[in-house]
Amino acid sequence: MKRILAAAALFAALLSSCNNAPKGAPEHKIAITAHRGYWLSGEANGAQNSIESLKAAQAIDVWGSEFDVQLTADDVMMVNHDETREGLLIWDNPWSEFEKMKLSDGERPSTLDEYLSQGEKDKCVLVCELKYQKTTERGNLLADLAVDALKRHNLFDPSRVIFISFSYEICKHLAGLAPGFTIQYLSGDKDPDTLIADGINGMDYYFSVFTEHPEWVARAHELGMSVNAWTVDRAEDIQSMIDVGVDCITTNYPLRTRELLGAKELRK
Ligand code: MG
Repeated sequence: MKRILAAAALFAALLSSCNNAPKGAPEHKIAITAHRGYWLSGEANGAQNSIESLKAAQAIDVWGSEFDVQLTADDVMMVNHDETREGLLIWDNPWSEFEKMKLSDGERPSTLDEYLSQGEKDKCVLVCELKYQKTTERGNLLADLAVDALKRHNLFDPSRVIFISFSYEICKHLAGLAPGFTIQYLSGDKDPDTLIADGINGMDYYFSVFTEHPEWVARAHELGMSVNAWTVDRAEDIQSMIDVGVDCITTNYPLRTRELLGAKELRK
């Protein structure tokens, strides 16, 4: 029995050495996504989701730049993280209420179309987060309208855009709407097998989910899924995501992440 076990262990070791990349071959590379653009840059002056923050992310040549999309009551897609702006609920108010507001860098909030006009100028991948809406129907409408906007800007291309959402309904809707695109679920409460069974081919979870479930990273990779971690800012947390082998790190500190990744950084 011992001999059989030893032979099995040797076979497993040989198999694993065959699977390991040979010396000199490129190791696992990890992409950096700027969270809400590179809003900590001087140019953006702290304005998250601003066009300046997108430009700043493009300027430092990171793989991707993330942004959030809300839907106003009159069906205008607005780039904004919170469901409110200056106390007004976006889904209950028309765009005319928001277009007169100012971000901290002096620009006004942008529509998705305006934002994509900047996005189309550079190869930086647009990591498009579609936010929860008050009904499933409104969430699905947001996804439909976002896809139409991407088509208008010649950005409906899986190499240019990936989708992320906390809404499982939106992710499932996108899976039907945008076949071939990377769609990452954000909430962190579903394992890779559950996601793939629902047609969702990626996970973008709060980083501690992957320290608790490193096996989800391995399983996702076995299933051909992509793994992204948010929002990873402290050096020790960035290092732990490098160690666990995610495919992408979403961060407010892209240059710190770059420094820690070194030659392991995946660039577009
Ligand atoms: Mg977001």
